[in-house]
Amino acid sequence: MPTNKKPGKWRSRTLAVRTGTLRSGFQETSEALFLTSGYAYEAAEEAEARFKGEIDGYQYSRFGNPTVTMFEQRMAALEGAPVARATASGMAAVSATLLSALRSGDHVVAAKAMFGSCRHVIEEILPRYGIGNTLVDGGDVDQWQSAMRPETKILFLETPSNPTLSIVDLKAVAKIAHKGGARLVVDNAFATPSLQRPFEFGADIVVHSSTKYIDGQGRALGGVVLCKEDFLKDHLQSFIRNTGPSISPFNAWVHLKSLETLDLRMRAHSEGASAVADFLATQKNVTRVLYPFRPDHPQHNLARAQMEAGGGVVAFEIEGGKPAAFKVANALKVIDISNNLGDAKSLITHPETTTHQKLTPAARAELGVTSGLMRLSVGLEDPADLCEDLEQALKVA
Ligand SMILES: *Cc1c(COP(=O)(O)O)cnc(C)c1O
Repeated sequence: MPTNKKPGKWRSRTLAVRTGTLRSGFQETSEALFLTSGYAYEAAEEAEARFKGEIDGYQYSRFGNPTVTMFEQRMAALEGAPVARATASGMAAVSATLLSALRSGDHVVAAKAMFGSCRHVIEEILPRYGIGNTLVDGGDVDQWQSAMRPETKILFLETPSNPTLSIVDLKAVAKIAHKGGARLVVDNAFATPSLQRPFEFGADIVVHSSTKYIDGQGRALGGVVLCKEDFLKDHLQSFIRNTGPSISPFNAWVHLKSLETLDLRMRAHSEGASAVADFLATQKNVTRVLYPFRPDHPQHNLARAQMEAGGGVVAFEIEGGKPAAFKVANALKVIDISNNLGDAKSLITHPETTTHQKLTPAARAELGVTSGLMRLSVGLEDPADLCEDLEQALKVA
C-alpha cells in the first residue's frame, strides 16, 4: 500500500504541501495522477474481501481513487476536518450534502445572500421532496433563532457572501443550530481554509467549490464536502457511492497541486483586493465600496474576528446605474468581463444582469444588488495596473 507522511503539529503551509501524499512504490516526489476507473485483484478471494470491507483497497473510482484520496486528505488537514469527500463541482458538494442529510418533513434555514444555484436547490428542488425552508437575513442572529422549528435539521450559509460580501457570525449561528439539534453547513468558497476555518467556530460541515480559489487559475471544476465521521458514515458515503457525483481524478489532481500555493495566492489576492478597494473609494463616480477588511464595511469587526484577510472579491456601486456600469465594464482593457471568480486573472461581472438575473427585483433589492453594483474578483496582476485600468474606465462613464 502507498505510504503517507505523518503530519506532526504542522502549520497550514506545511500541511498544504506535505499531507495527502500517498507516495507509490516509484517514490515519485510529485503526487501521481491515477487516471483509472477500475482496479485489479490478485485473486477472487481478494475481490470478495475488499467488497466486504474486510481489507482496504480501491474497487472502482466512483467509490474512491488514490489521487482523489490525496486531495481529500489535504483538504481535511487544511480545514481541520476529520474527513472529506471530493465531488465533481461545488454544486455537487452542496446538493450531495443536503440530499443525503434531509428527508421528507425536514426543514432548512438558510441565509438569503447565497450563491444562486444553492438558492435554487433549497427553494425549488428540496420542496419537491417535502423539505421546507425559511430564508433569513444572515447578518441578523435573531432571524436565525426565530426561523428554527422542531423539524429544522440544517442551517446553511456562506460568509463572506456573494456578491455584497456580508458576513455571518459563525459562532452565534452554530450555537443556535446545536441548541435546536441541527447541523450548521458553511460554504467556504470565498474565504478558503487559508483565510477562514469554520470548524473552529462550530460548523459541522464545510462545503467548497474548489473551482474557484482552490484551482486558482480557472481550469477545472471541483467540490469538496468536509465533515465528521458520523455524517460520512450515516449520510454522505452511501449517497455519493450510489448516485455518482464523483470528481474526475484529473480535476482532483489539478486541485491537489493547487493547494500547495493556496496560502501564497490568497495573501496576494487579498493584498490586491484591499489596494483596489481603497483606490475605488477615492473615485468620484463610485458611490459605495464593499470589502470585508475596510473599516467602512458594516461588519468589519466580525470579519476581522473570523478571517485572516479580506479575500479577493470587492463589490462597488457605480453612479448612473446599469448604463454607466456597462460603459465601465466595456472600457476595461486588463480586467475581463466574466461571471467566474477566484482566477489569477481579474474578472468583473454585473450581478443584476448575470449571476442574480433570475431573482425577482424585490429579492435583489433585499440583497443590495442594485443596478450600479459590480463584483470584481481581483486576480494576481499588479494592483497598480488594475487601478489604472479601473481609473481610465471610470472616466469613460
Ligand atoms: C461557484 C460557487 C458555488 C458552485 O460551485 P461550482 O463549482 O460552480 O459548482 C457554490 N458556492 C459558491 C459560494 C460559489 O462561489
